[in-house]
Amino acid sequence: MAATQTLSPQTQTLLAEMEAAVMFTAKRPPVVMARGRGSWLWDVDGRPYLDFVQGWAVNALGHCPPVLARALSAQAKVLVNASPAFYNAPWIHFAQLLSQQSGLDKVFFTSTGAEANEGALKLARKYGAVKLNGAYEVITTHNAFHGRTLAMMSASGKAAWDKLFLPKVPGFVHVPFNDLAAVAGAITKNTCAIMVEPVQGEGGVHVADVAYIQGLRALCDQHKLLLILDEVQTGIGRVGSLFAYQQYQVLPDVLTLGKGLGGGFPVSATLCRNAYNIFEVGEQGGTFCAQPLAMVAGLAVVQEVIRRKLPQRAEQNGRYLMRGLAKLAPRFGLKNIRGKGLLIGVDLPQDKGADVVVVARELGLLLNSPQLATLRFMPALTVSRKEIDQALHLLAQALERVLI
Ligand SMILES: *Cc1c(COP(=O)(O)O)cnc(C)c1O
Repeated sequence: MAATQTLSPQTQTLLAEMEAAVMFTAKRPPVVMARGRGSWLWDVDGRPYLDFVQGWAVNALGHCPPVLARALSAQAKVLVNASPAFYNAPWIHFAQLLSQQSGLDKVFFTSTGAEANEGALKLARKYGAVKLNGAYEVITTHNAFHGRTLAMMSASGKAAWDKLFLPKVPGFVHVPFNDLAAVAGAITKNTCAIMVEPVQGEGGVHVADVAYIQGLRALCDQHKLLLILDEVQTGIGRVGSLFAYQQYQVLPDVLTLGKGLGGGFPVSATLCRNAYNIFEVGEQGGTFCAQPLAMVAGLAVVQEVIRRKLPQRAEQNGRYLMRGLAKLAPRFGLKNIRGKGLLIGVDLPQDKGADVVVVARELGLLLNSPQLATLRFMPALTVSRKEIDQALHLLAQALERVLI
C-alpha cells in the first residue's frame, strides 16, 4: 500500500541521514518520533499518535511516567555505574521486591528479554548436568518467541527462522502449543526443562489453557524437569495479574521477565526457586547486570504498578477493549477476539494486518500486526477508557478503508 502521507522537509532530511548511517534490518515507516506522554507519542513534526503498541508492551506506565523520570534523574546524579563486581543498594532492593512478589526466591538481572531467557537456559543445562546425568534438551513450542540471540532464535518456534543463521544451537525440541500430550510424548532421558509463554505474544496472542500449564507443572514434577515460564511479555501486570502464572495456580521453577519490567528502560530478570540457585562462580554475569539506573527504573515501575493496582485495571480495561472490538466485529468480519488483560488479539477476514497498521498510523493510531491476518493491542496499563474509545473509533476508520 503506497504511503499517502507527505513528508515534511525536517523528516525528509532525517530520513536521508538515516539511509546513510543506520544499518538496514527492517522496513520502518517514514516517521521519526520525538516525544511521548502517557498513551501519546509525537513525531518531529508534532503529529500525535495514540500508542496501542507502547514499544511492544514495554511502557507499562505509558510514555515518560514522572515516577520513572524522577528515579532515573536522581540516580544519575549519584551513581550511574559502580561495577557489576560490587553490590549496589537499588539492586538488592529490586531483587527483594521481585522475590517477595513472585514467590520465587532468587533474581539475576540483565538488560533484555533474550538475555534473561539465555540465563534460564544456562540454568536448565546446569541443572541437567548436575542432577539429570547430563540431560540438556529443552522442550519449547511452535510459534514461540524467546528472543533474537542465536540460542533463543533456535529455541523460538518461528517457521521463518528455521533455515536462518545455520547451524542452529542444538538442544531444543519443538511441539505444538497448548498440547499436553505432545509435551509428554517429547520427554526423553535427555530432557532437562520445558519452556513456554503463558500467552504467546509475538505468535499472535494465543492463551495457554489452565489445564495445559497445570499439566506441564505435573509433568515437570513427575520427571524432575524445570518448568521455565517466559513472562517477558506477560509479566508486570500486562495480563491482569502481576505475573500470568498466578492465574494458573502454579509456581514455575524459573521465570523470566523483561519488557514491562523497566517501563521502557532496558532491564530484564531471570528468577529461580532456591533449589535451582546453582550457578557457580564465573558461570553467569555481564557488564550491565544490575546496572543502578536499570535497578531504580525497575523498582519505580514495579512499585507504581502495585501501588496503583494496575493489573486489575488492565483486566477491566482489557474487557472493555474486547467488548468494543466485539461491537465492530460484525461490520468488518473480525474473528477470534482473544487475550488476557491488555494483551489482546483479533483476526481479520483477510491477510491485511500490515495494511491496517499503515492506514491506522496515518490516521494517528499505532497498532501491531504480529501475523498476516492478526492485529495485536498492547496499550499502556494506564490507558483510559476515553483513549480506548478513541482507538476503537480510529480502528473502525482504518478497517473501513482497508477492508471495505
Ligand atoms: C520480546 C520477547 C522476548 C525478547 O525480549 P528482547 O528484550 O527483545 O530480547 C522474549 N520472550 C518473549 C515472550 C517476548 O515477548
